[in-house]
Amino acid sequence: MKLKRRDFRLDIITLLGSITAITIASFGLYRWAAGDLLMAGFDFAVVAIVCLPVVYAWRTGDSRRAGNALSIFNSGATCVACMLGGHTALTWTYLVLLTNFFIAHRWLAVACNLALIAAIQALPDFFHDGIHAMSVLISALLITVFSFIFASRTQDDRARLERLAALDALTGLPNRRTMERVLSDAVEAFQRSGRGFGLVVLDLDKFKEVNDLYGHAAGDAAIADLASILRFEMRRNDQVFRFGGEEFVVLVEVDSSADLEAATERLRKAVRGALRGPGGRITISLGSALLREQEKTWHDWFSRADAALYRAKSAGRDNYVIADDLF
Ligand code: GH3
Ligand code: MG
Ligand code: MG
Repeated sequence: MKLKRRDFRLDIITLLGSITAITIASFGLYRWAAGDLLMAGFDFAVVAIVCLPVVYAWRTGDSRRAGNALSIFNSGATCVACMLGGHTALTWTYLVLLTNFFIAHRWLAVACNLALIAAIQALPDFFHDGIHAMSVLISALLITVFSFIFASRTQDDRARLERLAALDALTGLPNRRTMERVLSDAVEAFQRSGRGFGLVVLDLDKFKEVNDLYGHAAGDAAIADLASILRFEMRRNDQVFRFGGEEFVVLVEVDSSADLEAATERLRKAVRGALRGPGGRITISLGSALLREQEKTWHDWFSRADAALYRAKSAGRDNYVIADDLF
């Protein structure tokens, strides 16, 4: 089952959009009842426009673009509200200055905030006096600076965590979690555009012996060396993953069984020629499968490559089997 990734920005856009829409609609109704048709019309227009990015984000999943649009719009609308409603609208400015950093790219949020702060300062007869103007200016700038620092810190931490969650600690290769995503994307690309892909599953031969005879650290070193060899052997569009334990997966862009076979044999030879442990040469066995049209998920494809690997092991190790040869 494919789990939907939690999208914090979408949550905030939805929360902010719906609270803003409900609040401003209430103001609109009140003003309408009080006969202030100009401001009521403005309120209802704001409600309609605020709903647009929220609906767009939900329909397309593109919360990035929706968030950027909403922050530009919120900043503009707050400025117009200050023009029309005087400094009673000023309190909303602070909310917008803060939430811009939750929904938009941080540099866009900075640009929106500075534009909003400058526009408010330029409004004629808006402030009581110079002190009032100065205190609004300084507090608005401070909110922007602190929100920027906080947003930068959060975004950097998040990017670091995502990077760590995607990589295997011992080899630095993308891990199984990343592999599942990439293979799903490959299946989708194949269905959509016919781009061909082959999957190579490989496993160290008699690796338990290396651990048993020379210790776990020697085993770890061999796994790290294997990762380096595979990384070195990668062609431009290939990708290698540590599937788990001493098993690796290579995704290659190929159109024919013959090309997949050549790539698989090249990997076997490269490892055979370069991988050494304390007890001498260490080899691998490989199973490969070309992605087929009837395979709608990566699991079936992977199972064929894995079954081929099993056959390669049974056939004596240090060799490969191409799954398509089996059918
Ligand atoms: P085969 O040729 O059939 O693959 O034999 P094998 O001994 O390699 O296979 P088996 O599955 O019996 O053993 C795999 C061994 O790999 C068991 C485990 O100790 C070792 N192993 C798995 N992950 C790691 C790891 O991260 N570090 C080390 N040092 N050893 C690992
Ligand atoms: Mg194994
Ligand atoms: Mg093994």
